[in-house]
Amino acid sequence: MESIIRKDDADRAAAALADPDAARACFDWQEARALLTGLPGGALNIGYEAVDRHVAQGHGSEVAVRWIGKDDTRRELTYADMADLSSRFANVLAAHGLTQGDRLFALMGRTPELYGAAIGTLKAGLVFTPLFSAFGPEPIRTRMEIGEANVLLTTASIYRRKIAAWRDEIPSLKLVLIAGDEAPERCVALAPALAAASETFEVAQTEPEDRALIHFTSGTTGKPKGAVHVHQAVLYHAYSGRNALELTPGTIYWCTADPGWVTGTSYGIIAPLVNRVTMIVDEAEFDVERWYGIIEREKVEVWYSAPTAIRMMMRAGAGAAAAFDFSSLKFLASVGEPLNPEAVTWSHQVFGRPFHDNWWQTETGGIMIANTRAMDVHPGSMGKPLPGIEAAIVEREDGTLRQCKAGKIGELALRPGWPSMMRTYLHEQARYDKCFVGGWYLSGDLAMQDADGYFWFVGRADDLIKSSGHLIGPFEVESALIEHDAIAEAGVIGIPDETAGEIVKAYVTLNAGYEASEDLERDVRGHARKRLGPAVAPRQIVFRKTLPKTRSGKIMRRLLKARELGLPDGDISTLETDET
Ligand code: ATP
Ligand code: MG
Repeated sequence: MESIIRKDDADRAAAALADPDAARACFDWQEARALLTGLPGGALNIGYEAVDRHVAQGHGSEVAVRWIGKDDTRRELTYADMADLSSRFANVLAAHGLTQGDRLFALMGRTPELYGAAIGTLKAGLVFTPLFSAFGPEPIRTRMEIGEANVLLTTASIYRRKIAAWRDEIPSLKLVLIAGDEAPERCVALAPALAAASETFEVAQTEPEDRALIHFTSGTTGKPKGAVHVHQAVLYHAYSGRNALELTPGTIYWCTADPGWVTGTSYGIIAPLVNRVTMIVDEAEFDVERWYGIIEREKVEVWYSAPTAIRMMMRAGAGAAAAFDFSSLKFLASVGEPLNPEAVTWSHQVFGRPFHDNWWQTETGGIMIANTRAMDVHPGSMGKPLPGIEAAIVEREDGTLRQCKAGKIGELALRPGWPSMMRTYLHEQARYDKCFVGGWYLSGDLAMQDADGYFWFVGRADDLIKSSGHLIGPFEVESALIEHDAIAEAGVIGIPDETAGEIVKAYVTLNAGYEASEDLERDVRGHARKRLGPAVAPRQIVFRKTLPKTRSGKIMRRLLKARELGLPDGDISTLETDET
């Protein structure tokens, strides 16, 4: 097992940065090491650790995936079933001449086949890249081009509507697998191929530093980047799943994120399976009553979701939750956007359980900063770095970095060295290199650390508003706005102003039972002024049906701003909702 705890990450980072300090921060990941076994001979493979290892250790009959179809059909897959399914899938890939290092893109809804395919791809040593199945043809095509896809796994309907027309223009593409019994011309139907394949497969001898996953970022701030992750990341998935989400064998766990987004893979596939939980997979999209029903019926113990879902629940009102029993829940957790204090308080009232915000990025591959049950939750704070993660607030001065004192806003930085850190941005080495300065990885997010060590999110570096000498983070303003009874969601930007430099403008959506009116606008502005003071409160408020959001549920403030300023939209390949 020595080979999987190599301190390569830190060593490489240190060499690259010519800064010996970078190595010092490396945690030895003792706890994570004990959670894994590795393959004989020192190889390490995520797929093996997530599934086959449990079978080898006598846990094959435990339920790995409890799947709920759109039509409420249920299917349970044990760890042995998952091993079987993923081995068959790996054999199908091998039968088509695909080998270690080749790249598979997955583009389909959350079905058991998708989960088996993810594990099978990793076991075969191929690189797994999930995409949102709701992407249009262009975002799919550009990502497949950048990622030089060799295999596409999708459905017949998606293939016909979005892929067939340009399939031949991706020269790297060798195989298109179609979920189900039948496939269009020049594609292979997966169900018969799986049925014909052997259920035994010798897992690829992947090295800890071999590529395993490519995840495209959400595209909130611009063109999505392809973050490359390696097999060694599984150490950190195991460790953070255990420590931040309390994933232990048998835990009933539900991560609502789609695998098209990094959360849906790191904590929707790998971390839960590596920790041998029973994970709930719901094929359907968000629906308040359905979701409440699932928590109650499946006796979900740990629920991992995103602020956008909670805000939708809040919009539906506490009454919708009243009929359900949430006593199985230990706690709820959230990632992806700042979790407004109002949401923490609300869900505490409705679920009667703590709500744990945590912070990380596609680039970090796993949770970096979290609230856990070992600490007091301060609503609005992201919590503290997990043990082994060194985080700081820094500012740049004449090309060097300085650590900020408690209470001061600066850029959130992390010491490189944890196993799930990205290894590069695909074909964008220079952009990757620019993330590292003076022995730190710079996240591009602004935050503050208080005297008790808690981190508080302020905003994206690009979203900070400078108004009459004040630095205003959109999160603070948005959180104050949604405290108003009428406001469901808010997106806040700065717009140019001759005297103030910038003034604050807010776009909001309304809760059920409220209608946009001048009176309401005045009332909301008054509320914000009282809460934030006149310098910070928005001068203008615009009511909208929805806010522009990415498919991972993040408000795209840059789009609100571009439209406001009459500038081009930029990359909107991940845009999901946008109704004025
Ligand atoms: P892109 O990098 O393409 O602009 P993105 O940054 O939204 O998109 P992700 O990697 O999916 O892509 O999201 C990570 C970002 O999400 C973080 O950098 C941060 O801005 C935001 N985020 C994640 N968790 C939290 C949190 N708990 N509180 C506040 N912001 C968060
Ligand atoms: Mg980002």
